[in-house]
Amino acid sequence: MTSEQFLFLETSAQIIRLYNAGDFGRGIENDIERFREAGSSSFVFAEFDRVVGRLYRIIAESFDKIPNQDRPARFKELWGTAQSLLPFYLPGGPTFLSMLVTDLSEKYVDRLPTAREVANFVRAEERLARESFYIAGNKDMRATGRIADRSKCCVWDVMTCTSTPAPECRLKLTCIEERKTFLESVETLAFRKREESAWLNKNLDKIRSAYNLALLSIVGSKPGHFGDIVIFWEVPAGWFVLTRDKTFLELQRAHRPDLTIWTVRCRRTQVSSQCEVTNVTKGMSGVVELRNASATGVAAEAKTPIGNKGDKVLLQGGYFTSSRQGEIVRTPGKDAPLVYGVRLR
Ligand SMILES: [Zn+2]
Repeated sequence: MTSEQFLFLETSAQIIRLYNAGDFGRGIENDIERFREAGSSSFVFAEFDRVVGRLYRIIAESFDKIPNQDRPARFKELWGTAQSLLPFYLPGGPTFLSMLVTDLSEKYVDRLPTAREVANFVRAEERLARESFYIAGNKDMRATGRIADRSKCCVWDVMTCTSTPAPECRLKLTCIEERKTFLESVETLAFRKREESAWLNKNLDKIRSAYNLALLSIVGSKPGHFGDIVIFWEVPAGWFVLTRDKTFLELQRAHRPDLTIWTVRCRRTQVSSQCEVTNVTKGMSGVVELRNASATGVAAEAKTPIGNKGDKVLLQGGYFTSSRQGEIVRTPGKDAPLVYGVRLR
């Protein structure tokens, strides 16, 4: 790799970079430094905003609904009320929510905020998130022109194109002008075992027989199923792609020898720190040494056994600034060092 190359940050890489504080996120920033420039795309931003932006907006709205907006109270108490006002399904899932709430509770650890103050702060964080998306390696991707766009179109929202796509509807570059390669990539995923595969496979005939706006509107109606494919075709020629999603590797192998895919999942952070472990299932506790950590799990070495597969544990201290729940998913073999795999929740 030379410094003349460019790095494309896919949605999962952006979320890890900006929200997996600590070594993991910093690792991505270090990678960026080795490239000439980093970039992303219009659809990646849309996906990022659908997860990160929406979660912030939902949290802010739940603080808005708390009665007595200007009464100072402990953050824990305010959050208790706000939490009961959250919708059942949240973008990004419980891990992401708990990460944001941990940050908030640390901010207000030694003072009493009001509900209005928290809501305003969360809204400012949302704006900051949208801005941070574009800043990588101290450069603004908007200024360097590294935000690819072959996806913007009214079909994702309210379709306004009538007989032909409007000039500003750029999804046509992917789906209509490159119809053949686009359909080939849809077929590739339809016959794999990725998340989107089943739906694509079931609807393959319908997709193949749709032309022009009809095809655009099918794509626009299922951003979750077509998202990876749309992003894949937004990546400029010859770039490196940083993602944790294996779908991009499948697509690259079948369609784009010009791209290099780096998966974030493979690279775990080396950490060395002690933390307390409480086995909630068995009611015992001890100390473990963390061997490595990722967004979703850690390897932890213990001096004495800490439990069995399936036990619920709580990790606290050291690497974990606030306690994290987890589950033992791997136990050491007989006579092997006591290294456990813990999946974080
Ligand atoms: Zn349109």
